[in-house]
Amino acid sequence: MKNALVTGGSRGIGKAISLALAQQGCYVLINYRSNHAEAEKVLDEIKENGGSAELLPFDVSSSSQVNEILGGWMQKNEKYIDILVNNAGITADNLMVFMSDDEWNKVINTNQNSFFYVTREVLEGMVVSKFGRIINVVSLSGQKGHPGQVNYSASKGAIMAATKSLSMEVGKKKITVNCVAPGFIKTDMTEQIDEKSWKKMIPLNRFGEAKEVASVVSFLASDGASYITGETIAVNGGMYS
Ligand code: NAP
Repeated sequence: MKNALVTGGSRGIGKAISLALAQQGCYVLINYRSNHAEAEKVLDEIKENGGSAELLPFDVSSSSQVNEILGGWMQKNEKYIDILVNNAGITADNLMVFMSDDEWNKVINTNQNSFFYVTREVLEGMVVSKFGRIINVVSLSGQKGHPGQVNYSASKGAIMAATKSLSMEVGKKKITVNCVAPGFIKTDMTEQIDEKSWKKMIPLNRFGEAKEVASVVSFLASDGASYITGETIAVNGGMYS
């Protein structure tokens, strides 16, 4: 049984990924920051479906929490993480001319620095076991840009670039590193966005479902994706192309 860590695995896209990886036979570590009730619901649903999982709350933007809690879990259980999904992310939109230091820093810390802290923590185990799947959830906003999201686009674009470099560092150890770039997906994050007016811009004429992103993440985590690395797969209803 492979151990899979899903950051932000308690709501939205991360929840769908946690459920899909459990369905695929993984032992899922469901990470989240503060909403314990939603995380419990995901754990219960996995167990009801016959899967196995546990909750592992920590703040992905805190280097020390990542080291103490995630590092501590691996040490205590004498286990490695085989599959890492860097999914936790936030927005703090504003036009750049009005953007505060706090809006910039919290998005960069949560979306970008977290990639460094969490991935570094699990890499040694993957190198030793000569297996790993690292999947980073980025965004259409990091590929084509979006007004009001200079901070968010910067954080997601950085992860796509880092993915290419890391894939070159660890390929020989049979570790693949890829990104999935969603467009508009129905979650709490997009609750305030009017689907009716935006869907005209989307060739498939609708927002996506979280499970439509999760199925691509599941594929990248599977044996079938063993020769794909350094890649970004868009899941955006055709909006980018
Ligand atoms: P969401 O519904 O707002 O869920 C966010 C998840 O991340 C929650 O589980 C939350 O935990 C967790 N989280 C946030 N900050 C965290 C932190 N510092 N440490 C640990 N966990 C943290 O978001 P979503 O829409 O599913 O988005 C998931 C990912 O997809 C993000 O990276 C986002 O940028 C990306 N994305 C989303 C869309 C979209 O249309 N929805 C489009 C493109 C890309 P708590 O509940 O405890 O806060």
